[in-house]
Amino acid sequence: MADERTKWLDLRSGVAPVWARYTDLVVERGIGSWVETIEGERYLDYTCGIGVTNTGHAHPRVVAAVQAQAARLLHGQVNIVYHPPLLQLIDELRTLLEGRERELRRMIAEEHERATVELMSDLDGVVGDAADQAFAKTRAGVETELVDRHLRELGAIEAARERINAGTFGICPDCGGPIAPARLRANPSALRCTECQSRHEKVFAEAR
Ligand SMILES: [Zn+2]
Repeated sequence: MADERTKWLDLRSGVAPVWARYTDLVVERGIGSWVETIEGERYLDYTCGIGVTNTGHAHPRVVAAVQAQAARLLHGQVNIVYHPPLLQLIDELRTLLEGRERELRRMIAEEHERATVELMSDLDGVVGDAADQAFAKTRAGVETELVDRHLRELGAIEAARERINAGTFGICPDCGGPIAPARLRANPSALRCTECQSRHEKVFAEAR
């Protein structure tokens, strides 16, 4: 066992020093938030990244899903085959997009109706007084900011539909990488990936 341990430790010198290193640990496995070395020591993993941050190392449901998928289809490239999880995601995102569109149209119609009724009743009491009329109109106009926001989101949905037709939906125009399904589920009309969107907002905020 000691020989085995020494062998692994010695072999570390064969790793090309192209990257800065954070630890010298030789890690055998990860469990939840912990990593365990070949010597059985456990360290709380503050460095976790891809595929670990949300559910920890070796989450049983993630392991089960990976095992099941590996036994079914390992690499179903989209330009070669279609497969059910892909088609299911498309169906899910399309339903979300259409549902949100209906909701926005309903909210805009309701707001229009409410603002019109309010404006009419406000104008009733101020007939003849131009200043009061202007004030009543401005007050009703405040509510249109909400409508404007809904209209902007409808525009984003329309743009998303154009990207679907153009075959560019789900691809971030800034970095060319895919937009994560979880982000699209939360906001199906999202134009950029999370990283590029926060960079974009930062640049936009600094430019103001
Ligand atoms: Zn991006």
